[in-house]
Amino acid sequence: MASTADLRKKYLGALDASDEDMQIVAAVREYIDKEIMPRRRDLEGGWHRDEKIAKETFDKVHKGLVDIGVQRAIYPADFGGLGVGGMVSEMIYDEISRADAGLATHMGIINWVMLPALKAGRLDLLQEFVPRICDDQPHGCCMAITEPSGGANTEDPTLHGRTINTIARLEGDEWVINGHKIWPSGASVADITYCTICTTDPAKGDEGIALIYIPPDARGMSFSKPFEKMGMCWTDTNTEIFFDNVRVPKENRVAGPGEDAKILHDIVGMGRIGTCGFALGAAQACFEIVLDWTKNREISGRPVRARSLHAGIIGEMALKIESARAYAMQVNRMIRSGRYGSPGEPFLLSKCSGAKNYVCDITLWVANKAMELMGSYGYAFDYNIEKYLRDVKILQLWLGGPQRGILDTALGYYPFTW
Ligand SMILES: Cc1cc2nc3c(=O)[nH]c(=O)nc-3n(C[C@H](O)[C@H](O)[C@H](O)COP(=O)(O)OP(=O)(O)OC[C@H]3O[C@@H](n4cnc5c(N)ncnc54)[C@H](O)[C@@H]3O)c2cc1C
Repeated sequence: MASTADLRKKYLGALDASDEDMQIVAAVREYIDKEIMPRRRDLEGGWHRDEKIAKETFDKVHKGLVDIGVQRAIYPADFGGLGVGGMVSEMIYDEISRADAGLATHMGIINWVMLPALKAGRLDLLQEFVPRICDDQPHGCCMAITEPSGGANTEDPTLHGRTINTIARLEGDEWVINGHKIWPSGASVADITYCTICTTDPAKGDEGIALIYIPPDARGMSFSKPFEKMGMCWTDTNTEIFFDNVRVPKENRVAGPGEDAKILHDIVGMGRIGTCGFALGAAQACFEIVLDWTKNREISGRPVRARSLHAGIIGEMALKIESARAYAMQVNRMIRSGRYGSPGEPFLLSKCSGAKNYVCDITLWVANKAMELMGSYGYAFDYNIEKYLRDVKILQLWLGGPQRGILDTALGYYPFTW
């Protein structure tokens, strides 16, 4: 009989990918199982959060993933990439997140940040960034949306960018940017580009929204110290970003009035559906840990997992993970089919937002139940469950949180404002 691991490979492979694509996913899985799973705890610097251990481990496994092609996976061969399909990329990030959701975040942001240039058909910008992404060095990017006055506001399609306070003013051939962002992943460590959500004038609404790529060494851009957080302690770096008369060429604006607003909502939609892969990998990891632990742990002479109460919970975990994965994959397929509009339009934004809410709820439920089934061992650092539980909470909170997510789900069915 095939093992669960073999069946899982078949399950993923059977979806939409070619055998060649699946070889890439298999190579990623093999690298993760061999090199990252045994070091998961070191990515946080061990129990004492030792920065040196964390950074050395992060650098090593990050480079390892770059060496096997993860960073350049989705880009066309013309740019030096491997040209894998979008669904395969989802599977790759699901696998990375099985080891560490923060590492998946750091690497996944690069593709997210390239999306605006891709959507706008800006070959010049892609030519500037992508060949570097496809080289053999680990890189980082940053998508700066959230401001101190609110993250969900910026993403709210009914507010039309009127709450954005980061102002871009055109002076001759340059944008002059002033403002303040907070929390973005990759802030201060990104070395390729900062895609920054600005407005030329909040009163202009959607027409004012401007997505501008800012180089990492731009004069006038500075950072706070990284935030100390509940999870993703060293893998994902988050700071404030201050823009003080930052000047960039006017060509660095992605598309133009009205078009940038559409792309902003596309990146929100894609960010939400992309989050599903991160969450599912973590849920899968918790499931695998609990399956293994309850096999050997006995209560009155019988393995925990052989007891009907526990078997029922394990069965429910499997059911929830499978249904969540099927939901996310279905929305992914709808986006990639091109038949349902773009991911920032109400119909698909609703699907992306609903899927993120659902998948994150299930992941948190799975991590929590895994801890219950393992008793104090689940609560202990050495068994990893507590790390997944801490890491995955932010997946639910970012990109507007579950409240913004559920409102955007409803917006797919009928328009409303408040
Ligand atoms: C580890 C980490 C990584 C992050 N990565 C990024 C990144 O890469 N880029 C980036 O720009 N930001 C990033 N963020 C920020 C994150 O996306 C925001 O914090 C998040 O969107 C919520 O915004 P907020 O904290 O300002 O809360 P608010 O927007 O103030 O929301 C507060 C509460 O109100 C709810 N709410 C908001 N609007 C409504 C509404 N209209 N109706 C009802 N309820 C509502 C929210 O759901 C939430 O419960 C990151 C944060 C962390 C911690």
